[in-house]
Amino acid sequence: MSTTVRAAAKINLHLGVGRAREDGFHALDTVYQAISLYDDVTVSDAAVDSVSVTGAAYVDLAGVPTDGSNIALRALAEAACSGSHLVHLVKSIPVAGGMAGGSADAAAALLAHDRLHGLDQPDDVLLAQAARLGSDVPFSLVGGTARGRGRGELVEPIADSGSWWWVVVPSDVGLSTPEVYRHFDRLFPHAPERPAEPGELLTALASGEPVRLARALHNDLQAPAIDLRPELGALIERGETAGALRGIVSGSGPTCVFLCDSRDGAMEVLAELSEVHDVVLTATGPVAGAHVLA
Ligand code: ATP
Repeated sequence: MSTTVRAAAKINLHLGVGRAREDGFHALDTVYQAISLYDDVTVSDAAVDSVSVTGAAYVDLAGVPTDGSNIALRALAEAACSGSHLVHLVKSIPVAGGMAGGSADAAAALLAHDRLHGLDQPDDVLLAQAARLGSDVPFSLVGGTARGRGRGELVEPIADSGSWWWVVVPSDVGLSTPEVYRHFDRLFPHAPERPAEPGELLTALASGEPVRLARALHNDLQAPAIDLRPELGALIERGETAGALRGIVSGSGPTCVFLCDSRDGAMEVLAELSEVHDVVLTATGPVAGAHVLA
């Protein structure tokens, strides 16, 4: 018996970061969007716990642990499941790319385990388990477009009238999220306690107009990510010159995403950026949160 769940990558349309809290976490006010890049997670009963991983050629599969530190296995421990499981990951979400690939796998494993054993736990139970695993895991369950507060784990769906086209440029080498936050602290020691609110972004999402959304995109981690990886700044300029309405670093990076005005616009930007980058993808958003495939 096995169950397969699909979970999407996230980007942050708004990422307001406050000063580090006493517990070391940063207060966030963020707007997540799930986009059409997916990991598929199959959970099966097995004699011992194990993880196997395959995936797209551009995914750094060697960077995914296959021991108990894999967040998908940790998710099963959090779910307090009895018995042992094989967790098989088919990854299309870049590793350490600022797209919450591990969080997607954790959310998918929680849901797959729940359905495999016919537990049908209520959403609030799964969301609480998800929040204990990581700040982005609850959003991976919910999907769509949603605001995240606290350290990002308090998720509330928001109105989104658009069907947005994105060009996604993963990097060959990942960037550690804690490292980017540490650099944020160095660059902005006097960051406000309360993170910047999305404001205009919420109106832009409701309008469905790409030009308005482009103007309202905001990421407080972009400056530290570009300071650590100056080539990301050049990439963003290049994408915007190629016709993207706006390019931003996705979350803590190093993946960069480019908002385009249409499918055709995205294809043009993809063609231009493909001249200088081996891996350039397109995606649409918003898409659904973690859901059962089979
Ligand atoms: P976020 O956007 O949530 O900060 P990320 O997308 O930048 O995360 P992940 O792909 O989630 O980063 O991986 C971060 C690290 O977590 C990896 O470098 C890897 O060591 C570890 N890891 C544990 N489990 C997984 C998993 N299932 N998939 C990918 N990485 C995992």
